[in-house]
Amino acid sequence: MSKKITFDYWADLYSNRTEFMFSSEIRDLLALSARPDIISFAGGLPEVRAQNFQKLEKYVKRTLKSDGDINIQYGCSDGYYPFKTKLIDVMRLEGIETVEEDIITTTGGQQALDLLAKIFINPGDTVITESPAYTGALNSFKSYEAKIIDIPVDENGIDISILEKKLKELEKKKIQIKFIYLVPNFSNPSGVTLSFDRRKKVLELAKKHRIIILEDNPYGMLRYEGKPIPTIKELDIRGDNRNVIYLSTLSKLLAPGFRIGWIVAPHPILEKISLGVQSTILCVSTFTQRIAYEYFSDPSWVDNIKRFKGIYSKRRDIMLKTLKGNLSSIASWSKPKGGFFIWLKLPDYLSTKEILADAVRNKVAYVPGSGFYPDERGLNEARLAFCTENTERIEKGIKILSKIVKEKIKLYKSFK
Ligand code: PMP
Repeated sequence: MSKKITFDYWADLYSNRTEFMFSSEIRDLLALSARPDIISFAGGLPEVRAQNFQKLEKYVKRTLKSDGDINIQYGCSDGYYPFKTKLIDVMRLEGIETVEEDIITTTGGQQALDLLAKIFINPGDTVITESPAYTGALNSFKSYEAKIIDIPVDENGIDISILEKKLKELEKKKIQIKFIYLVPNFSNPSGVTLSFDRRKKVLELAKKHRIIILEDNPYGMLRYEGKPIPTIKELDIRGDNRNVIYLSTLSKLLAPGFRIGWIVAPHPILEKISLGVQSTILCVSTFTQRIAYEYFSDPSWVDNIKRFKGIYSKRRDIMLKTLKGNLSSIASWSKPKGGFFIWLKLPDYLSTKEILADAVRNKVAYVPGSGFYPDERGLNEARLAFCTENTERIEKGIKILSKIVKEKIKLYKSFK
């Protein structure tokens, strides 16, 4: 959008809702990520260059050749059925046994979040999120005027004792929570993973207090070490399969440009979501779903995941090593076993927003922490994405960033 400031002739006509719609700092910083001179730890951009483009071309050609007229036509609001058969295979690898009728496809995971917010949240309704939480989810929930209660995470995910206390307190006040939003695997932004015991406990609490869990799992397949932990959805399926709405996306398994996500939920909820799809987009692109169908029909997609994991784990390792070599006595950070992100905590007298200006001047970008809290906390925290840059640039960028941080600390101490 143009940066020119213009008087808004229509300012009095917007809905109240727009007051609660915020731009994600990440989106704003993506412009920086596109500049080749900037080493970007900002956006979580997958390494799409590692895809086999010749194969992709083959899938596109096949899509146009076989039933081309159907594949560029409007499709079903619940998703392209043959593609859903492939999603069943994808989810089975994560331990989830489901059927096509339990799935609705969406335009990316982001639309899944928006649809779920749309069907559950009335202005003033309460939702619970982990803290820090994915900005895109916070922005979605806020745009439907939700009241967000955030519960801190430690290295094993959301703090169960604080959650339990909060739920009791809210129940006493007769406040019905609309849902608890969690990214249990290698969370965006914290990088932490919810332990098995806590997954069981969170589900137990959800059942006890009659609450829905939104389990957002874009990164589950990108595990670089340790054994996979059952999803909360899998645990729920083993029981009455009532509390968990599972959502995921192809953005990290295939490529974000396809804009395909999906939701698995109990049928009455799916019916409401389907109405939401009809009133917003009619249907997800049949064309991209059909190409994705071809992609997941070729068993080599699993090898692509292995290749992705090889690339990302090396990038994670170099970022962790360089942080250790340069900021050990000064800062702390999460040690993710997968995914895209490391969460950095600087001394509390430093502001990562202020440091960002210096960092960008020195050609390094990251996302300041405050955007991941509902109320602008996390001023001394930052999200570092290790997925985008190659290992040399990661090492260089972290060294530059560390130097700036050390200079700031020196300056601060000189005034004390
Ligand atoms: N959920 C989480 C936790 C994410 O990190 C993202 C994107 N980074 C999304 C949902 C949305 O992804 P998309 O719309 O690309 O599918």
